[in-house]
Amino acid sequence: MILYELRCPSDHRFEGWFRNSDAFEAQQSAQEIACPVCGDKQVDRALMAPAVGRKSNNLPDPAQAITLLRTLRKVVEESHENVGDRFAEEARKIHYGETEQRGIYGQATEDEAEELADEGIEIGRLPWMPLADS
Ligand SMILES: [Zn+2]
Repeated sequence: MILYELRCPSDHRFEGWFRNSDAFEAQQSAQEIACPVCGDKQVDRALMAPAVGRKSNNLPDPAQAITLLRTLRKVVEESHENVGDRFAEEARKIHYGETEQRGIYGQATEDEAEELADEGIEIGRLPWMPLADS
């Protein structure tokens, strides 16, 4: 069984259960579905609003996302060397073996990030969340 939100030409909205989408289309074309408000049989499916806040979708809510990014930032800061705005330069040196291999983080401009990608240098990009206590 599926639940459809239906709509008549006068924009009355109502719900109907159908065995499947074929059953709905058959009943619709046979004009067996009538609007409970005005009795109009020219009903059609209304667009369903996207489901929000359901447990079944795994997207974190904004608060969870911020916590996640803050955690990620902490992990990165503790395990990588901060090279600040020399990030692109250092990433390139590491890539070409001109300096020791290590994890680094810092800031890069859009252009720098694109140049690195063009050279096949893999970098991760994060929206940098301010820490809770700063
Ligand atoms: Zn109606």
